[in-house]
Amino acid sequence: MKYILSQVNPGTQLTCVEIGGSSIETVVFGPGDSVQRVDGAVRPDGSRLAIACPGLIKDGRVLGAANLGWFDIDPAAALGLGESAEVLLNDAEAAALGESALRELADVVFICVGTGVGGAVVVAGKIVAGNLLGHIGGFSQEVCSCGRVGCLETVAAGWAMPDPLTPRDIDRAAMAIADALAREPAATGRLVVVGGGIARRYLAMCERLSVHAPSRRIEASAAPAGYKSASAWGLRHALEASSVNQL
Ligand SMILES: [Zn+2]
Repeated sequence: MKYILSQVNPGTQLTCVEIGGSSIETVVFGPGDSVQRVDGAVRPDGSRLAIACPGLIKDGRVLGAANLGWFDIDPAAALGLGESAEVLLNDAEAAALGESALRELADVVFICVGTGVGGAVVVAGKIVAGNLLGHIGGFSQEVCSCGRVGCLETVAAGWAMPDPLTPRDIDRAAMAIADALAREPAATGRLVVVGGGIARRYLAMCERLSVHAPSRRIEASAAPAGYKSASAWGLRHALEASSVNQL
């Protein structure tokens, strides 16, 4: 069948599941304009499914997500959600796409500052680069979670920093992130959106990054209050785009 499903049947629900290290959030779009947030993984009968997951994703499978202990699995099956997801994206890439979707498909460099540090780039509504920034080297003499020495994560990731953070810790992390950003050839776009748990908790992170990366326009996540990230909007955009591609 060749059709735009969401146009043929406005009652179709889009289920977007974001898997995090410590919790899972589901957002169900539709019928119509309704948006519903649910803790945990759920899938209304007959809905289309998209999933965002940390780790390495390929051909609809999670090849490796160390934090979850997942290696080469179908996440829909692992979560008891039935048929495989139509869209499966890395979580930072889904969030990047969501930040773009929430800004009328603006080009976005997305940086996630949370337990780890990740980056992804969206141009013209498509993910063009992912898995950026966190493991650029030269920042310290500390051993990173990846086994190398001196990655950005060793000075700017939640796992490597004290809790709580002082203003000085935040400034140091922001300066390192700005440096990594300047060294990443894929991340030259002007609009830089900063999300992730640490950026959400410490609003100063955005402000300090603006100071250290003055040529960029730094914005906080556009995800509505109460949502972990913009991932669900990215997954929704990917589902809608995949319907159009069937034409
Ligand atoms: Zn590393």
